[in-house]
This record gives sequence, structure tokens and C-alpha cells, in this order.
Amino acid sequence: MSHPIAHTPGRIAESPTEHALPSYLQSDNLGPWGIYLQQVDRVIPYLGHLSRWAETLKRPKRALIVDVPIQLDNGTVAHFEGYRVQHNTSRGPGKGGVRFHQDVTLSEVMALSAWMSIKNAAVNVPYGGAKGGIRVDPKKLSLGELERMTRRYTSEIGIIIGPTKDIPAPDVNTNEQIMAWMMDTYSMNEGATATGVVTGKPVDLGGSLGRRDATGRGVFTVGVEAAQHIGLDIASSRVAVQGFGNVGSVAARLFAQAGARIVAVQDHGGTIFREAGLDIPALLAHVAASGSVAGFAQAESLANDQFWDVDCDILIPAALEQQITALNAGRIKARMVIEGANGPTTPAADDILQDRNVLVLPDVIANAGGVTVSYFEWVQDFSSYFWSEDEINARLVRIMKEAFASVWEVARDKKVSLRTATFIVGCTRILHARELRGLYP
Ligand code: NAD
Repeated sequence: MSHPIAHTPGRIAESPTEHALPSYLQSDNLGPWGIYLQQVDRVIPYLGHLSRWAETLKRPKRALIVDVPIQLDNGTVAHFEGYRVQHNTSRGPGKGGVRFHQDVTLSEVMALSAWMSIKNAAVNVPYGGAKGGIRVDPKKLSLGELERMTRRYTSEIGIIIGPTKDIPAPDVNTNEQIMAWMMDTYSMNEGATATGVVTGKPVDLGGSLGRRDATGRGVFTVGVEAAQHIGLDIASSRVAVQGFGNVGSVAARLFAQAGARIVAVQDHGGTIFREAGLDIPALLAHVAASGSVAGFAQAESLANDQFWDVDCDILIPAALEQQITALNAGRIKARMVIEGANGPTTPAADDILQDRNVLVLPDVIANAGGVTVSYFEWVQDFSSYFWSEDEINARLVRIMKEAFASVWEVARDKKVSLRTATFIVGCTRILHARELRGLYP
């Protein structure tokens, strides 16, 4: 069966949005939040009577900006800007990661929090959407500085997070250790250990088996499902991966284990290529030792821009937003793009890929494996009863397959892209909850 992509109503050129942006975003010139608003506009025609509530989706419920001052090792004081945005809590507490990156902005965190709302509803975990971040290059901090910054940020956002309010998790440049510090800081302030305040913790501190690999495993699971629909044989496929961190490296490993050749990998340090397929365990060891894929001996290096011309069947963006744009979408050779990253494809690029019959598995379903196992972790923490890794992986795969099948069906029935279909499923659930709860007061 051919994939269900069809022309979506309201195709929009990649130009500054006509939306009346809040004043603090007027200089932002589209950006991730503008992209999200365009994606919402595309789904409104499919929301029926719930479109009455659609404005809810275009406004974050709550956004907190915090100053994060820390003493550096040299005795001076540095200030960093931090954010926590709760986009929607109609279906449950806020849930979403924390990003440490030099390019983090409020607009970006708002968009990431909104995509969390859609994603959590699309896989039907009982959460709203939230996201946080600090505008910092963590690679320039010592371990002690990183810990002090994490703890001060946690204290500052402590007024809005909590196990039943909003539960952070790892994202770009944050990991299990940072979640451990966040859990400890929140717990010290509360006077009681609260493991359920964050997910993605070390297993020895209430973390879940399987969480580390969960997002990449979800990417792989939906990739295999979609490949069957378009008659693509994973075992003989060639895969290119952008981003070799938590998401990209696990996805690469699982595709390689399934027989695929990982022909190209790009990270912040450079781009590498090997027609015969990269040795992923060896590449993981190289990255662990050197911090980047650059300089890997068993591969040739490419100029970063050449990554988009690589001959491959599957392209996995697993780094940052707005990587696939109108400028490079026409060059992509893959038959399928699996969005491990959040927001990697602009709406104009979406249209170009659709016209070229490239199937896009959108972030809001493709990378939902992480939050799904975060949900398992949260449930395990509340019950203080922990499941086996096999049990977790089996439940994860079942949820991902079921969610993907429903989205595929909506895309086929309504003749829309998988992104619009996922937004239809997610937005309908969010707005139905909004309607049932009603407005207070
Ligand atoms: P990570 O910090 O573990 O890895 C990020 C990777 O991106 C690194 O390999 C880094 O070198 C690379 N990168 C950074 N800048 C780049 C650039 N300019 N060009 C190419 N590569 C670059 O982060 P992660 O957790 O793997 O997250 C990656 C993406 O997946 C993000 O969009 C994140 O929001 C999304 N995501 C993560 C999770 C999760 O559970 N960690 C869940 C869902 C979605």
C-alpha cells in the first residue's frame, strides 16, 4: 500500500507568520513557535465542534522565566536565563524535558512544550505538555558549575513543578545525573524524597529500566511499522542519522542490529560517511572517548552540508529544530524521514517532501517512546514497584504500534499527512478534555 500523504488544506509558504504574536515574540520571525502555530492552523478544519476551543492550543498556559546565578570555579558570578513552560494541563500534569543549550529561547521552549502536549495526547499518556531549558553551553562548565546551575534552576522552577504538577525529564545536553540533582534539590526543598518529580533518573534512584533507550526504540518501532506500509525492507536499507546522542545513537544501533547500513552520521562536531555501513559499537566508543563522531578512523568525513545529499532510504534527524528546510528538502534522497528530534522539519519543507512522495513520520509520534517510558517510570515511582526491562520494552512497543496504527488510519481516511493526522488525534483528545472540564471560574 502506498503511504497516505495527500495535500493538506491551507499549505503555507515559509514566511513570517500572520499570527498576532505576543509582543515578546514579535521580533522572533516565525521560529519554532511560529512553526507550531502553522501546524495547528492546518488541523483546525478537522476538529469539528471542538475547534471552538482551538485558541487554547495557541496559548501556553503558563511560562516562567528565571534568573539562574551561580558562582563559577574562578570565584566570579555568572547569570543564566532559564525557562519552564507549561503549555497545557487539561489531560494531566505538565510533562517534558529540560534542555541546556546556548541557543535556547523562550519561543523554542514554548514550541517544545506544545509539541509535548500533542505527543502525550497522541500516545494517550495522562499528561499535558511542558518543557524547560537554560540558555547555556554546558560544555563550557565544570562538573561542579553544572551541578550548581542545575540545582539553582530546579529551586527557581520549584514553585511550579512537582510529581502531580509538572514532571521534567532529560533532553538535549541533560542526562540521568542532571535528573538526579534535580530530584535531590526538589526533595531537599520539600523535606521529603520525591522520586516522581522527574523521570529519566538513574535506575538506582527510582529510574526505570529501558528509559535510556526508549526514544530511540520508539523511533525504530514506528520506522519498522511504516516501512512495511511502503514496502521498504529494513534489513537492506541505508540510514543517515543527524545527531548521535541519546536518541540518534540508540536508533542507529537498533537499525544496524536489524541489518540496516548506517551510511552517514552527523553531530555538532562534523559529518562522517561509509558506504558499506558504519560500525556503530566502534563509533559509540569513539564518541565516548572524543565527544564527537568527527575524526572516526573507519569513515570518510564530509562537509556538513553534504549530509543532505547522502544516498539513503531512511533519514533520521535526531538533533535540533529546523534542520530540514525549504533549502535542503529537495535534495533529500530518502523515502522516509523519521523525526527523532522535535521540530526538525519546517512546514515549507514538509510540503516539499510531501510533493516528492517522501514519507515523514512526525516527531509527535516518532519520538514519543521516551515520554511513554517516562510515564512507566512515574507510575513505578508512585507504586514503588519496579518492572523488568522486557516488560517495559514490550509495553512500549505495544503502545507505539497501536498509536502509530491509529494515526495511519486517520491519515488514510482523511487524506492528510501523518503530521496532520497525529495533530488531529492529539488535539481532539486535548480539546475534548478541555470541554469536559469547562472553564473555571
Ligand atoms: P543529546 O544531547 O543526547 O544529543 C544531541 C545530539 O545532537 C548530539 O549528538 C549533538 O552532537 C548533536 N547536535 C547538536 N547540535 C548539532 C548540529 N548543529 N548539527 C548536528 N548535530 C548536532 O540529545 P537527545 O536527547 O538525543 O535529543 C535529540 C533530539 O531528540 C532533540 O530534538 C530532543 O528534543 C529530541 N527528543 C529527545 C528525547 C529524549 O528522551 N532524550 C525524547 C524525545 C525527543
